[in-house]
Amino acid sequence: MSETPIERSAAAIAAEVRARRISAAEITEATLSHIGAIDAAIGAYLTVLSDEARRCAARVDERLRNGEDLSLAGVPIAVKDNMCLERSRTTCGSKILERWIAPYTATAVARLIDAGAIPIGKTNCDEFAMGSSCENSALGVTRNPYDPSRVPGGSSGGSSAAVAAYEAAIGLGSDTGGSIREPAAFCNLVGFKPTYGRVSRYGLIAFASSLDQIGPLARTVQDAALTYDAMAGFDPMDATSIDRPVEPTAAALLESLQGLRIGIVRDFDTKALGEDLDAIYLRAYRDLQKLGAELVEVTLPTAEYGVPTYYLIAPAECSSNLARFDGVRYGLRIEADDVRSMYDKTRAAGFGPEVKRRILIGTYALSSGYYDAYYLRAQKVRTLIARDFERAFATCDLIACPAASCTAFEFAAKSDPYSMYLMDYYTIPMSLAGLPALSVPCGWSTPDGGALPLPVGLQLSAPLFAEKLLLGAAHAYERETRHALAHRPVFEGVRA
Ligand code: GLN
Repeated sequence: MSETPIERSAAAIAAEVRARRISAAEITEATLSHIGAIDAAIGAYLTVLSDEARRCAARVDERLRNGEDLSLAGVPIAVKDNMCLERSRTTCGSKILERWIAPYTATAVARLIDAGAIPIGKTNCDEFAMGSSCENSALGVTRNPYDPSRVPGGSSGGSSAAVAAYEAAIGLGSDTGGSIREPAAFCNLVGFKPTYGRVSRYGLIAFASSLDQIGPLARTVQDAALTYDAMAGFDPMDATSIDRPVEPTAAALLESLQGLRIGIVRDFDTKALGEDLDAIYLRAYRDLQKLGAELVEVTLPTAEYGVPTYYLIAPAECSSNLARFDGVRYGLRIEADDVRSMYDKTRAAGFGPEVKRRILIGTYALSSGYYDAYYLRAQKVRTLIARDFERAFATCDLIACPAASCTAFEFAAKSDPYSMYLMDYYTIPMSLAGLPALSVPCGWSTPDGGALPLPVGLQLSAPLFAEKLLLGAAHAYERETRHALAHRPVFEGVRA
């Protein structure tokens, strides 16, 4: 089947638009009409920014006429709804911000627009990015384009569904413990979390500030690299932004893994994977070897404490960050006789159950008498996990492991919060250590009784700031294996 313009990669769209073979306005119209035809069946978007997108497209076409060179010319992007875009509704998937209009634009989004990208809409997510399936959104259901009876992953599930269903060429997600890598794995995409501090968090509504990082969801490694190149780099508006030169990645993609040592983690529990996924990952490691890499065994003895450590630190930070939603300054207010009851009523009505659970856990872990026993201890384990990675990277260049322990699951399959928390078993350790990591498609698995093959993601991670090597190696693997191209998404609607 021949590709329609919006099914092309972001790199191809930008090349066509730059060569003026198609205009940004035409790409934008085609994307908006495709969204009109299928998004009712997918539910990727909470807000479609038709007017803003058309305005941006006209500006891009004009800038090209004026001779500007734009790396993302006319590329439609889907923005997770926890990132601010001036004058647009920014909800975080929460009732408390359901009608809140952002007064400014997040740096990462602004840089992409400056590079010629077109913001098509704001995408659904788990409330305040807390979750792994999008089911914690208070504002709608998002379906997996490869099997609409299943979740798209989360918390950046709206962005991953949008890109998988060609409703955008690039999605922006945020990853605190896995929220870019897991939905990428579930939706047959590349999902990339840069080193903590590489991409500005200014305008990203904070969940857990020491972990949150913005990154791309894309259909190819090259597209993820182009997006990263356009948005990474120091921002004085973010106190945790790192002032250190960014090495361009899109121009440095590798074709072989010759000379690289790739670590396979001995301590990761692979029992939960089941035979099928286990075999897919073993084949992926062998393919890395065939591409020239030397496989070495590495050990991360404290990584198994990642999940409990994360579920103290992230809620502790969220309990503080979410204190600002009090009915006074942002969004929802439920009136009451006095200010104290107004706070209580607003927060009781505005936050969903998972957010409340985390605020309670975090407040408890930070309270006097428990701080040392829980929060401080978790911070110490976090340091141990980071040291484990440092030791491992003394003997290898990259680490390969699963991105998730299962493929996309059915709605309500993980209604017990603890089983949902375990979804991030493989992604949380890298987040706690601040490392760059990505998921790249590595095969397909058809679960028992299911008719539709579901994508599987391989996670690669690298030392701090080694984005160039990480994306370069992922490209070599993708180029050789081409797993992403094996199946197409299913739509109930019409293809544009
Ligand atoms: N699933 C994890 C959580 O619920 C990670 C979320 C994220 O990365 N934003 O906290």
